[in-house]
Amino acid sequence: MKRNLVTGGSGFLGSHLSKRLLERGEEVICIDNFFTGTKKNIEPLINHPYFELIRHDVTEPIKIEVDKIWHLACPASPIHYQFNPIKTTKTSFLGTYNMLGLAKRVGAKFLLASTSEVYGDPEEHPQTESYKGSVNTTGIRSCYDEGKRIAETLCSDYKRVNGVDTRIMRIFNTYGPNMRFDDGRVVSNFIIQALKNDKITLYGDGEQTRSFCYVDDLIEGMILLMESNYQMPMNIGNPKEFSIKELAYLVRDLINPNLEFEYKDLPQDDPKQRKPSIVLAKKVLNWEPKIVLKEGLIKTIKWFKSNL
Ligand code: NAD
Ligand code: UDP
Repeated sequence: MKRNLVTGGSGFLGSHLSKRLLERGEEVICIDNFFTGTKKNIEPLINHPYFELIRHDVTEPIKIEVDKIWHLACPASPIHYQFNPIKTTKTSFLGTYNMLGLAKRVGAKFLLASTSEVYGDPEEHPQTESYKGSVNTTGIRSCYDEGKRIAETLCSDYKRVNGVDTRIMRIFNTYGPNMRFDDGRVVSNFIIQALKNDKITLYGDGEQTRSFCYVDDLIEGMILLMESNYQMPMNIGNPKEFSIKELAYLVRDLINPNLEFEYKDLPQDDPKQRKPSIVLAKKVLNWEPKIVLKEGLIKTIKWFKSNL
């Protein structure tokens, strides 16, 4: 039986991944410091005979026998990763360093949850994996963006120098059940605001774009990437691009068409546009997302409603 280590396993993506791995009959050890993860996310898994939970911070080393390491531990929402930016950088660098050291020691396969943020505020559109990015080294997003860039560098050097079998997954905006109510990312913010009959907060003019992937599609891509032999960075995300205002209209119309919008300042370094090229994922993994935004939003709204 395969034994998986999922770091950040009680977070949004980690909890879905852990569930999927258990359904495949594999063993899962989840490690998490509960900075943004919640026990509620893994409550349905906790009594599973193949599931174990360890409270641990990845900035400290850990010794554990596993076959595959899925390294997701890191806050992903701007408000959370900016809360303690130095800790975010430590988590990205030291956390990835410790987990790669473990992978080397026990001969485990390793997947890094990297991000579209390595492209920064991109001048190339859509973003292909060969685009090197446009990232501010000193701004409020830098702890996360540069943290993930150095994490990718560490993966590449552990592969070159130590022969660790690494995967680098550049994840684009993903949404779905198990996001925190106070996550702060746009999809959960809009849904919560609409369910509470509050104004929907648009930052800037709302014309900036993102491409939103439903979590089930994303996790399928993640598992396929780990199973492949592809060791270079790969984008996984939904290539259908929406302006944030279009997203706001969609959420509003699904919940309460009478809601008003409230415009707020655009945060510093907020990327103007983002859309993955998934040509590589289609070619190598035969993967592409299946769930369109409206369908994914309906599932997500249903979950938020029943958990609010
Ligand atoms: P999340 O905040 O819900 O989950 C992150 C998890 O990591 C949480 O459970 C948190 O408690 C844990 N964690 C944070 N710091 C830790 C530490 N030092 N030690 C141990 N555990 C720690 O975020 P998510 O959306 O599930 O993202 C998971 C991963 O995917 C992150 O690495 C993120 O950068 C990456 N990613 C996510 C998205 C997205 O849209 N969801 C996009 C790009 C990249
Ligand atoms: N955003 C917004 N209102 C919100 C939250 C976010 O208009 O309540 C905008 C934000 O400025 C950004 C986009 O939505 O342009 C996506 O933000 P999110 O924090 O979800 O992710 P990221 O910026 O990291 O892609």
